[in-house]
Amino acid sequence: MLAGKHALVTGSTSGIGLAIAKSLARQGADVTLNSYTNEASDHQLAAAIEAEFGSRVTYMQADLRDGGQARRLVDKSSGIDILVNNAGIQHVAAVDKMKPRHWDEILAVNLSAAFHTTASALSNMRAKQWGRIVNISSVHGFRASPFKSAYISAKHGIIGLTRTVALETATEPITCNAICPGYVRTAMVADQIPTQARIHNMDEESVVRDVMLNRQPSKQFVTVDQIGDLVVFLCSSSADQITGAVLPVDGGFSAM
Ligand code: NAD
Repeated sequence: MLAGKHALVTGSTSGIGLAIAKSLARQGADVTLNSYTNEASDHQLAAAIEAEFGSRVTYMQADLRDGGQARRLVDKSSGIDILVNNAGIQHVAAVDKMKPRHWDEILAVNLSAAFHTTASALSNMRAKQWGRIVNISSVHGFRASPFKSAYISAKHGIIGLTRTVALETATEPITCNAICPGYVRTAMVADQIPTQARIHNMDEESVVRDVMLNRQPSKQFVTVDQIGDLVVFLCSSSADQITGAVLPVDGGFSAM
């Protein structure tokens, strides 16, 4: 279905990004993986996905805390048809305890990087008269939780970016949408459990049950493959008229 298309998935060496990259490769897209590291294991991961699905998969290092590197990532990847802005980081702290460096890094990776990659990718999409931009926001793009001021501000912000880019490209064969997962048990979530336990003065099992899944009515984590499948759908012709959409995948979290 996506043979001949070239996808860039930012932050795709683990978790949701990795699953999205595999879902796109499974459909025949060539894929560029990205993270901020440049280890042999990063390139081996790309080779393993290429071997599994047969499309061309490469790894490109770029630290998305730096807008210049985000722009060069798109320029060096050349010919991006599908841009998935997935990279994200988290620091959990009360707003008056949040280190300014952490605020700046979260805003840079989770929001500003998507501005830079989108601005750089649009000219190729316009030249080819086809493009798909998918931004991974969060249920925290329209709901708040304490101790996550920077993350929630960035995730709200990327919904605004999504809607604006959708309007600016609405008459062109380019779509821009946001996916808003609820809790998905990836490294990002696992890493928060001990901190949340300390802040809430709870054991870790109680944090999972009473803090995280408490607000997810299905009482189940979303899976990474469910997000990957939705990205593939948004890249299909069935989704040509879906643009500017903010799509929760959250077991009912946002219905409450
Ligand atoms: P993860 O930690 O497994 O993956 C994050 C990826 O981003 C990794 O590949 C990491 O290397 C990369 N990354 C981090 N800093 C980077 C930088 N400076 N430059 C380039 N890449 C960088 O996390 P995940 O849970 O898979 O999260 C992926 C996205 O999904 C994030 O935007 C996150 O906010 C969002 N999300 C996650 C959940 C969840 O419950 N896991 C829920 C809603 C939204």
